[in-house]
Amino acid sequence: MALLSRVFTRRNLFAIAAGILLVGVPLVAFDFWLEGFIDRQGQVEVDTSARRAVALAESRVVQTVKALDTLAARGVDSCQPDHLDAMRQTAFTTVPTKEITIVGPDGRSLCTDLDLGRAERKTISSEPLAGVEGYFFDVVQLTTGQQLMRLRRAAANGPNQLAAWVPAGLFKPQISSEGGPFSAMARIHTAAGHEIGSVSARPPEATVANFVGRANSDKYGFNVEIVMTRERALAGQTDLKWLGMFGTGALVLILATFALLLPRRDANNPAAELQRALRAGELVPYYQPIVDIRSGQLRGAEVLVRWRKPDGTLVMPGSFIPLAESSGLILEMTRDLMRRVCVEAGPAIGLRPGMKISFNFAGKLFANKAIIKDVRNIFSGSQINLSQVVLELTERDPIENFTETRQVIAALQGMGVRIAIDDVGTGHSGLSYMLKLGVDIIKIDKMFVDAIGTDRNSSTIVETLVDLAHNMRMDVVAEGVETFEQVVHLRELGIRSAQGYVFAPPLPGSAFLQLVEAIDPLPATVVDTLPQAEVA
Ligand code: C2E
Ligand code: CA
Ligand code: CA
Repeated sequence: MALLSRVFTRRNLFAIAAGILLVGVPLVAFDFWLEGFIDRQGQVEVDTSARRAVALAESRVVQTVKALDTLAARGVDSCQPDHLDAMRQTAFTTVPTKEITIVGPDGRSLCTDLDLGRAERKTISSEPLAGVEGYFFDVVQLTTGQQLMRLRRAAANGPNQLAAWVPAGLFKPQISSEGGPFSAMARIHTAAGHEIGSVSARPPEATVANFVGRANSDKYGFNVEIVMTRERALAGQTDLKWLGMFGTGALVLILATFALLLPRRDANNPAAELQRALRAGELVPYYQPIVDIRSGQLRGAEVLVRWRKPDGTLVMPGSFIPLAESSGLILEMTRDLMRRVCVEAGPAIGLRPGMKISFNFAGKLFANKAIIKDVRNIFSGSQINLSQVVLELTERDPIENFTETRQVIAALQGMGVRIAIDDVGTGHSGLSYMLKLGVDIIKIDKMFVDAIGTDRNSSTIVETLVDLAHNMRMDVVAEGVETFEQVVHLRELGIRSAQGYVFAPPLPGSAFLQLVEAIDPLPATVVDTLPQAEVA
């Protein structure tokens, strides 16, 4: 049940529906197209076949008429041997003609070039051949069932006629327009409407779906009708159907691949990926020690987030904090970091009441009163006292809701939490915020620390800031201190706290805890009273 509900989430159902649509539409479209294609092809096929059949019949007649006319011109009109010879020769050289006979005035054959025993012949129809003066066209049936066409004309002299016999089969289409065996029904009629012959033993049932093609011979008046069933036309397009199925199969495969890749799309959606990382506990706290530059003692640490990817790579906050802020994930991320610090460093910090722990708080977190409760709840369950907590207002954009921000800051201060302004002297973290927000600590940006001693103006600004801070009873922390010379200068300026690579870089939890133990070991009595788990 749980599995089913996981598979059939709204998003999945939507994806399935979209998939069906994506596969279904081309399938239906292809079917639709195939139907139309078969309709067009079927009609083309029967029309072409009908025209070809007419042309075939015409060419048979042309050849036969020419043969008889030549014989008549040579004066062939009797059964005498030289006439029979001429008839034999002509029958042999004229393709469609199987036999040539001399027909008497009563219509009976007097002699034939073949000299074969004559089967009974029955004349079924007889009519003048349309389009050719003096010619007759007979349909004759043999006792064997075979049909023959007979073309007749008067001999040049005397009462006899010359007749040529052509098998009915030669008038009928034998191959399809595509070159394959002829598989449709074909009927061919004389100008007077007598049937010369038909192809296909079983004529197709008359349905509207069948394709019917007709053609007439302008020369001799024959007309041809071709009927092809839809099934036949469809069978002729099996290649196409396979192609369609293959094409659709390929399409389904492509879509399926896409569907499989869909869940991984999150990898290309940075906000979703960051959320996943947060839930997976990949956003971890690092601790940069803050040192008292007069005594050399540890005053505390600033928590700096790192994205530790499963493959071990460490991503710096500069590349994901702006996204966390714009996507709204920053609140959840900050709360998670505070909880993690409570678990990881809570005992070590809690046992050293003089130590402070700073968290970077995006400006907009101060614009919502809910954060007051969040901070109280998170630290009330840990060894860290609220008076040890410092929240650094890290402002990228100007503060939108100034009044609300001030109130939240005041409420947090009321709980004992101290508020710092980060990066003072840069961006929006100017003097006005320092004065109006009523903060406890100012953090002097690395940019000014670097300039002290080298740039007169910067030194003056820092001096002024430090004076102002001290007058307002604010603490000053110098950031990004890299050299001992800088430490000397800062000391001269009356600054007490500093952080930077000269002391330590941001450290992973275990390293930071070791450093804390080394620099600021607890008195033996305190260690004795610690529960075992906390010492470990
Ligand atoms: P930041 O709050 O000004 O933090 C100080 C930055 O300076 C840190 O960079 C730190 O690693 C670096 N730094 C410290 N000492 C030195 C030094 O001696 N020399 C130099 N060159 N750099 C030093 P990091 O860790 O990359 O953090 C960058 C910024 O990301 C932070 O600047 C802060 O604005 C933001 N950030 C980090 N963690 C969080 C967080 O949990 N929440 C929020 N909202 N912002 C965070
Ligand atoms: Ca900071
Ligand atoms: Ca800073």
